[in-house]
Amino acid sequence: MVKLNSDLVNLSGNYLFSEIGHRVQAYKAAHPEKRVISLGIGDVTRPLPPVVTEAMAKAAREMGEPGGFHGYGPDQGYSFLRQAIAQAHYRDRGVEVSPEEIFISDGAKTDCGAIGELFGRENRVAICNPAYSVYVDTSVMAGRAGGYDEKTGRWTDLIPLDCHAETGFLPQIPSQKADLIYLCSPCNPTGVAFDRENLAKWVDYANENGSIILFDGAYEAFITSPEVPRSIYEIPGAGTCAIELRSFSKTAGFTGVRCGYTVIPQALKRGGVSLIDLWRRRQATKSNGVSYITQRGAEAACTPLGQAQLKTNIAYYQRNATALKAGLTDLGLRAYGGVDAPYLWVETPHRTPSWDFFTRLLEGPGLVVTPGAGFGPGGEGYIRLTAFGSHEDTLEALERLKEVLS
Ligand code: PLP
Repeated sequence: MVKLNSDLVNLSGNYLFSEIGHRVQAYKAAHPEKRVISLGIGDVTRPLPPVVTEAMAKAAREMGEPGGFHGYGPDQGYSFLRQAIAQAHYRDRGVEVSPEEIFISDGAKTDCGAIGELFGRENRVAICNPAYSVYVDTSVMAGRAGGYDEKTGRWTDLIPLDCHAETGFLPQIPSQKADLIYLCSPCNPTGVAFDRENLAKWVDYANENGSIILFDGAYEAFITSPEVPRSIYEIPGAGTCAIELRSFSKTAGFTGVRCGYTVIPQALKRGGVSLIDLWRRRQATKSNGVSYITQRGAEAACTPLGQAQLKTNIAYYQRNATALKAGLTDLGLRAYGGVDAPYLWVETPHRTPSWDFFTRLLEGPGLVVTPGAGFGPGGEGYIRLTAFGSHEDTLEALERLKEVLS
């Protein structure tokens, strides 16, 4: 009989957002008259900037002309996009990343998991608790997580970096040696971000221990605080210990278009092997890249006009985040994040279990939030709210919360 992939079989339950989706659909089907508002799933809602759609429309027309047709693109992504990223996202901000170090992908989710293929199965992986569930799930799929402990909700072989309110939800350096470390800043789900000093501690730790940091910067466009670095490469020494994962999803509204990129520095080597060469080899075999049309759209997002248009959308979401933070605080709730990120991490009243509070909000005022426990046991007693809704819905959501809490 065919043997199934036991690492995949090992994964318990549904992907978090599929589970929320099922529950919300079931509720809507039973209550068609009710308008449900979602501050749950982290999808953007603002339309794409015009400069992006124009570039994609032009690229689509080009594809229909004899001289403009593009077939398979380069494995690593078109150089026009890699150059645009190197300029707009790094050089213009005083960070040197060369286009050769950038790999275009269909999004950071793909790369967050796939990047693990660079490393041996025996590596110990450190992951924040709570964290974006893809880090844990893909570590399980790669056979690096060990067994699931039902009692604690933890995986036996992962090194948990528990994030608490007392330490501002920033992970602390572990006592055990970690080989691979997923860090996300600004963080999904807690909405907090590393300042330079705290991130430098991790870079130093990684260089001292030969570890590699997988730095997820999917939300860098939301950073407003001057002390928060937008790239890990702003920290001295990061070039020898960090891979950066980035996305156009939340920065440019590409959740449905699909484009992201991964930076692997030339200087990043282990055992004399260059990780950039290894990744290039892996990509050449496993990926045929991202469409020409998409890459032209992403390039437009990197131009000065594109950056200006994106800022309007980001500012819209930031206004929601500010309103949420103020409104939640007025309601007497403890809310974290929401300054350098589109997420607010909110303690439930009396630390009510997060799925219970989720159900109470869905079945009461018809409000969808994300239960913190879905991000790991450290998320119990919290919910995550996003600033990606319309401004009207954000304000309405606050009103509905007030109903439940009063
Ligand atoms: N990384 C984090 C922390 C995220 O929250 C998300 C999406 O929600 C992603 C990566 C995935 O981004 P993409 O749409 O580029 O796959």
